[in-house]
Amino acid sequence: MDEFASLIRDIPDFPEPGVVFKDITPILGHADTFARLVSAMADPFRDKGVTQVAGIEARGFTLAAPIALELNAGFIPIRKPGKLPFKTVGEEYTLEYGTDRLEIHVDAAGPSDRVLLVDDVIATGGTAAAALRLVQQTGAEVVGFSVFIELAFLNGKGTLPEVPYHALLVYD
Ligand code: AMP
Repeated sequence: MDEFASLIRDIPDFPEPGVVFKDITPILGHADTFARLVSAMADPFRDKGVTQVAGIEARGFTLAAPIALELNAGFIPIRKPGKLPFKTVGEEYTLEYGTDRLEIHVDAAGPSDRVLLVDDVIATGGTAAAALRLVQQTGAEVVGFSVFIELAFLNGKGTLPEVPYHALLVYD
């Protein structure tokens, strides 16, 4: 775990004052560590019959797509409004100020799919919970949520009580 932690760059006051941004780009730039991270995030879900891995825009894509290949599964992009070209379904979620929305293609998954959700960081959990509801709207079963970094002091994990949850690094 130290190998991963030592390559996370803390950026104070980004993108706004008071937030310490966990920058994972140094890991993405180290091929061996990147490969070990992908493998470690896939490990708890190898025998779960995952058919699709859904990544949350945009840093989630960098982890979800290689995890999908690692699990012999497809990749589904979950995106901000207006970015996906085909017909979409969406889910609103609450931010500190106002709301935001995530979208998925209507045909991205269906009742025969077993979907693993992936993101880089879970903070308040609003994004992950919206992504969970979104995938459930397609009729697919969500088999778990695999996240690289959990900011435990923001209690995001509590927003996902009904799915198997795995965080690689937990910051208290
Ligand atoms: P939340 O909905 O509050 O759990 O926020 C999670 C989303 O915001 C994820 O997609 C993360 O990529 C991003 N995020 C939130 N906080 C941070 C942080 N401190 N460092 C990096 N990304 C963050």
